[in-house]
Amino acid sequence: MEISKRAAGVKPSPTLTLDREVKSLTAAGHDIVNFGIGEPDFDTPDFVIEQAISALHGGATKYTATEGTPGLRLAIRTYLERQVGLSYGPDEVMATVGAKHALANALLALVNPGDGVLVPAPYWVSYPEQIRFAGGTPVFVATSAERGYRFAVQDLERAYTGRVRGLILNSPNNPTGAIIDPETQEAVARFAMDRDLWVISDEIYHRLVYGPQATSIARVAGMRDRTVVINGVSKSYAMTGWRIGFAAGPAPVIQAMIRIQGQMTSNPATIAQAAAEAALQSQEGVVEAMRARFQARRTVMLQGLARFPHLQTVPPDGAFYVFVGTAGLRGQVWQGKSLAHGAVLAHVLLNECGVAVVPGGGFGEPEAIRLSFAQGEDRIREGLKRMGQILSSTATPVDEPGMVAESS
Ligand code: PMP
Ligand code: GLU
Repeated sequence: MEISKRAAGVKPSPTLTLDREVKSLTAAGHDIVNFGIGEPDFDTPDFVIEQAISALHGGATKYTATEGTPGLRLAIRTYLERQVGLSYGPDEVMATVGAKHALANALLALVNPGDGVLVPAPYWVSYPEQIRFAGGTPVFVATSAERGYRFAVQDLERAYTGRVRGLILNSPNNPTGAIIDPETQEAVARFAMDRDLWVISDEIYHRLVYGPQATSIARVAGMRDRTVVINGVSKSYAMTGWRIGFAAGPAPVIQAMIRIQGQMTSNPATIAQAAAEAALQSQEGVVEAMRARFQARRTVMLQGLARFPHLQTVPPDGAFYVFVGTAGLRGQVWQGKSLAHGAVLAHVLLNECGVAVVPGGGFGEPEAIRLSFAQGEDRIREGLKRMGQILSSTATPVDEPGMVAESS
């Protein structure tokens, strides 16, 4: 059997591929410090689990409406009103199987074959693949560590071509943690309105911020009706495995997304919808407690990384990743390969030090690695100590495997 050209063109997700490797090494008895996948180590809050159990006993075992239960959709609307300052009607929101699925639905609903979609880089790994899957072409907008991985509207203008129909924004950004400031947001909004572009605004890290707040571009006058807001419970409520995301936007787009979902997956799991409803209705303190712990971990991670002068670290304003430039390692080689290459460094760190990091290539920056600090502080310290085996300032250029001390 021959697979379709569409399937053949899809690359595996680098974050999930790495996580599979980490899980199999861990199952084989290796002690891996996991700075890889972006997944809170916290347990899902108890009240969410209790709600799911009682929903099950109450019969939440059947199909629901494709777009989610009325209860969950009301909770989503109330949440968006309270947390983001956006008000949506009942036919303007839907629940999906994780935020990833909401993004896929949105792109399938908006992209025509040949359309260009502007994507500021570094970008989250799945955007380019999902755009291509929908028949579009990602048009990348470069940023730099020197500018804190922030883009200006002039960068969008330079990258714009007549084929561009929309753009994906992600603030706070995965992998850099950069937040789009209000002035840039206003300018981007004008840029989008002048060219009649749609915007997909991925706000999954909206609550996990460490200084400036992130605001939604959908709140800028004139933008609500050309923006699809994407969010979910995975990150803020430590609910990655429950697979509930959501989308909000103009009714014609959301209704198209619901039609697509109705033919592809039907409703997200009924029990998970009940759990997400409880999470979204919970008090502010639930997310705040986790955010504060991420902030403490961020400090430990940044202090530790500061010991490695060859690495270029930009402190993140949000999310739970540090994106680290590795160009300073040019000239250091391992088995004939440059350690400045994120894929090489990630391979060495995993196999020689027992530390999992994601190579930057999948985010659009090959000379970089991404470290997640969604880990306990002791594990972060342990991981940084292990990294020191090859990265400390006194390290001599490495050119042989086995030079690196064995990790536990
Ligand atoms: N957007 C971004 C920027 C992400 O980092 C992720 C990863 N969780 C997602 C979307 C997808 O989230 P979910 O797990 O809810 O599908
Ligand atoms: N979004 C997380 C990450 O970037 C989870 C993995 C994924 O869905 O890509 O690591």
